[in-house]
Amino acid sequence: MKESATLAVAAKAAALKAAGKPVIGFGVGEPDFDTPVNICEAAKQAIDKGMTRYAPTPGDKASREAIAKKLREENGIACNAQDITLTVGAKHAIYMSLMAIIEPGAGDEVILPTPAWVSYKPLIELAGAACIEVPSSVVTNFKMTAAQLEAAITPRTRAIVLNSPSNPCGTVYTVKEFAALIDVLAKHPNITVVSDEIYEKLIYPEIEAGLKHVSPGADARLADRTITINGMSKAYAMTGWRVGYLAAPGKNGLLAKEIIKLQGQMTNSIPSFIMPAVVEALTNCAASVETMRKSFAARAGLVYELLRGIKRLNVCKSTGAFYSFPEIHACKGLQTPAGRVIDSAQAFAEALLEEHFVAVVPGEDFGECARENIRISFACSEANIREGLARLDKFVNSLA
Ligand code: PMP
Ligand code: GLU
Repeated sequence: MKESATLAVAAKAAALKAAGKPVIGFGVGEPDFDTPVNICEAAKQAIDKGMTRYAPTPGDKASREAIAKKLREENGIACNAQDITLTVGAKHAIYMSLMAIIEPGAGDEVILPTPAWVSYKPLIELAGAACIEVPSSVVTNFKMTAAQLEAAITPRTRAIVLNSPSNPCGTVYTVKEFAALIDVLAKHPNITVVSDEIYEKLIYPEIEAGLKHVSPGADARLADRTITINGMSKAYAMTGWRVGYLAAPGKNGLLAKEIIKLQGQMTNSIPSFIMPAVVEALTNCAASVETMRKSFAARAGLVYELLRGIKRLNVCKSTGAFYSFPEIHACKGLQTPAGRVIDSAQAFAEALLEEHFVAVVPGEDFGECARENIRISFACSEANIREGLARLDKFVNSLA
């Protein structure tokens, strides 16, 4: 199996930093904020109260109820506590969902609009399905059209993975665009929708007016066959806590039951004393989340302005998440002053890191259509953004 490209860049940048190099990290997608203190307090108190033993596999009643309430009230998803399981990050939820719905050896196909986050394809293949990529580019704001989706569906299509706001594209489907995709999926009852909504709270209507989050699981036609994935990592700055969750309310509870059986065999529950922290985050942190969202929105605007001023790069506006995914086609075939040939996004990223100490993730592992892009994660300070993108500008200008 392939190593995660995002984590590989993070490790390389950390090693260079430890060796004293002035690294600017646009690599890993991790908020630079600290976890809000009230969330930390809830976990500390839970330890002090002795919440240190095994808990029920899918989580305790209070946390599952808080998640179900959030999904009903904020997302319009009809679900109850028994449809929810708390997982070791959203990654674990995605893995278990795919394992539960794919029949290995049966020729199953899973549709993946690309560019897409690096882990989906390996997890789809690990579960035993073929990954059917539906490509897009910076020219179309990285959006799959309803016609493209329709054309990708075959009798073997078992599932589709959707991710809006998108990692790595930083784009968000409009309500109208999403409705067109949902209309197509509604006509194909054998397709399970895996909707990864981990960037739900990071949408920037100040950049594109009218944008708001859409949960396909809220559509009555898809409710029975949608697994909604979410997690605490991004919105609550809780990457290291490793908490995600899924809601699988369909099939009379069968989907959730099967997934929870798998979880019982593989990991059991997340740490018990983290569960009250999840409740605290979901019920008492709207103001902290909004403060962080506003910062990300300002950075998204700044990154777009700076990137579009760099010659040889093509870029579209980031309207969600904390990524920009510029295309570097015009740099291909050129050489750096040190003699490195830019024959791929990988070579571009390596030369940029080694010659200017700026870490970005090369596009290759985000999909076949992403081989001439680089991902910039702007979950860092404005000063770092300005310095890092000035170095990127210098680097691109130095190519000949
Ligand atoms: N989905 C997407 C789209 C992501 O970018 C990430 C980032 N790690 C994850 C899922 C997994 O997040 P975590 O496991 O930290 O919840
Ligand atoms: N999702 C983040 C990223 O894309 C974190 C690293 C990972 O899990 O891939 O950088």
